[in-house]
Amino acid sequence: MRNTVDVAVVGGGPVGWMVACELALAGVSVSVHERRTERVKQSRAMTLHPRSLEILALRGLADRFLARGLPLPTAHYGVLDTRLDFSALDTAFPFTLFIPQAVTEALLEERARELGVDIHRGHQVTGLRQDPEGVDVEGTREGGTFRVRARYVVGADGARSIARTLAGIPFQGTETTMSLMLGDVVFGTLPDQPAWTTVNEHGTLMVAPLGDGRHHRVVMNDPLRSGVPVSEPVTLEELARSLRSIEGSDFGMHSPLWLSRFGNETKLAATYRSGRVFLAGDAAHIHLPAGGQGLNVGLQDAMNLGWKLAGVLRGLAPEALLDSYHRERHPVGASLLRNTLSQTALISTFNPAGLALRETVSALLTLPDANRKLAEQIAALDVAYAEPPLPAPPGLDTVSGLPGGRLPDLILRGTEGASHSLYSLYSLMHEGRWLLLRREDSAPRPALTAAWAEWTNVVTADIPAREKDWGAWTSLWVRPDGHLGYVAHGGTP
Ligand SMILES: Cc1cc2nc3c(=O)[nH]c(=O)nc-3n(C[C@H](O)[C@H](O)[C@H](O)COP(=O)(O)OP(=O)(O)OC[C@H]3O[C@@H](n4cnc5c(N)ncnc54)[C@H](O)[C@@H]3O)c2cc1C
Repeated sequence: MRNTVDVAVVGGGPVGWMVACELALAGVSVSVHERRTERVKQSRAMTLHPRSLEILALRGLADRFLARGLPLPTAHYGVLDTRLDFSALDTAFPFTLFIPQAVTEALLEERARELGVDIHRGHQVTGLRQDPEGVDVEGTREGGTFRVRARYVVGADGARSIARTLAGIPFQGTETTMSLMLGDVVFGTLPDQPAWTTVNEHGTLMVAPLGDGRHHRVVMNDPLRSGVPVSEPVTLEELARSLRSIEGSDFGMHSPLWLSRFGNETKLAATYRSGRVFLAGDAAHIHLPAGGQGLNVGLQDAMNLGWKLAGVLRGLAPEALLDSYHRERHPVGASLLRNTLSQTALISTFNPAGLALRETVSALLTLPDANRKLAEQIAALDVAYAEPPLPAPPGLDTVSGLPGGRLPDLILRGTEGASHSLYSLYSLMHEGRWLLLRREDSAPRPALTAAWAEWTNVVTADIPAREKDWGAWTSLWVRPDGHLGYVAHGGTP
């Protein structure tokens, strides 16, 4: 094991793997320290939403995931009857991919190995000490201890993050006030439909096939059981009793693969950065898993952080770039907490007033604009960053009204020389570099500093199918995470 590294990642969950992949892709040395010796087989998350599929596509990885999951054109908000229509979204992935978390983690770990990430299972981090040049990380492993010296640390170690605690970052919000039950079970009598939801005066129920051809996932909020502490194990009999209460039948459930209880603790880290320590994923935000978002937002945190850390470590960007991680992602975490709290209200009030509110919101979601608004929120396609993370390269500017929005996988037409071939924007982003898109061969060629040149691919192409609101642009600068960075208009150098 190397005992000095550019970045040490604490936690080998989905977010830890994702950030490690981004760093290794950019050529910085990275180690992952995961306390478990083996991956967990049960899957908490079952969804990859459109923006997560987009960021995987930005790195040429989406096909690996699409091959292992099932695309579903709709998603739910607060288990309302009117579902969110993802098929109308402006993305190459207008669906949610039903895919177990265990598969997502396996695919990301596989990618990390391909990229040469230094992986340490059975490493439990217990100590972090920062100084002006780096961080000493220490912990325990079978038969002893380990130490590693890193320039930066990413705490991707989940809700009870030791990195967050040791960095002294407050985790602010509300404690668990109710618990829900989950069971991955086999039904003795097959229900009429493979997947459905029920909400009535007896509680909330969601049922979906697990995808292995045998088990169904049952998730319930039974008001008679929601006061039970999260730490108390769920029994099959308890689950069956609640299912009978809400649905009138337990479908002869048996052979549970996994029974679990989870709560609505809702907290956000006060800051995503403390000196040389960064937080991402559940270490930064936790909430009721409503709408299947935690893992997704965590992957997107990782994507935002990876290229920035790599840019600074490679001497291509000033240290101040790292502050933009908190500036950009903390508001996204706050918004995630708000939307899960709003869904919590919808799935936990079973009196006539609560049920009437559900009907009203469900009716509003039949309006296409309202539906799209919430669909974009759950899909995470509505995230735009208010200010550029770095001062614009010379001669470039931002467009007002469209700062930092994410770009869909636009079809480009080459305009250099005789080449007029069509290709996709995302196919140009696999290396994790900035992309400077020049509209015409004759477009002014911005004078790149050595650092920008080192970090930027330049392509001459137009976007034939759509104009967007960029005015008479001559160049677009796309950030490595696929958000629009800067736009140059005619007359710039
Ligand atoms: C019932 C349920 C259903 C869910 N469904 C969805 C869904 O459908 N979609 C969705 O997007 N999200 C969902 N989530 C949320 C999702 O599971 C989490 O958001 C996701 O796992 C967060 O990933 P992470 O990598 O940040 O943290 P984790 O997955 O918690 O990984 C953290 C890793 O750090 C390791 N670790 C912890 N402490 C240390 C230490 N001291 N040293 C070394 N390693 C350490 C842990 O062993 C773990 O492997 C669900 C959650 C629950 C409870």
